[in-house]
Amino acid sequence: MSTNKDKIKQYNADYYSKHKAYHKQYHIEYYEKNKEKLKQHRAQYQEANKSKIKQHTAEYRLQNIEKERQDDRDYYRKNKGNENSPRNKRMARNRKFVRDYKQTLCCVDCGMTNWLCFDFHHEGDDKINTIASMSNRGYSIARIQNELKKCICLCANCHRIRHNGNAWEQQPKT
Ligand SMILES: [Zn+2]
Repeated sequence: MSTNKDKIKQYNADYYSKHKAYHKQYHIEYYEKNKEKLKQHRAQYQEANKSKIKQHTAEYRLQNIEKERQDDRDYYRKNKGNENSPRNKRMARNRKFVRDYKQTLCCVDCGMTNWLCFDFHHEGDDKINTIASMSNRGYSIARIQNELKKCICLCANCHRIRHNGNAWEQQPKT
């Protein structure tokens, strides 16, 4: 003999399967209608739990390192040369963004304007990553812009001078 609990359970399951399509549609519509709110909510959660998420991600990656590596390799092989894969699309978008941005700049040290020679130099020690690597890894434009705020534009010559100038002067004279 089935108990009331079982009956209710069965009733709910029947009800759900009967209205499955409706529920699905309802969720899709809800998501579309509240997209911005949900996005904001997610961003708030991520901001508030930054270190927890970071640690969790690192732990997961460590525990599943071989699988993650294999997934990365498979993804790369599968999508190599495929302009329509999400990652390659993001990379192309980022490269265009950085290139367009460079064309509006000049070297802050010598004033040269050939954007082909430009590097982004981090002035402070709050660097997360190089712009080139962020761009190639498919970071969001917002994160790249955030990183660009910490950088100045230097031509390759001036960039090298900035990095080696001090070390050169500090070398013992022979
Ligand atoms: Zn320069």
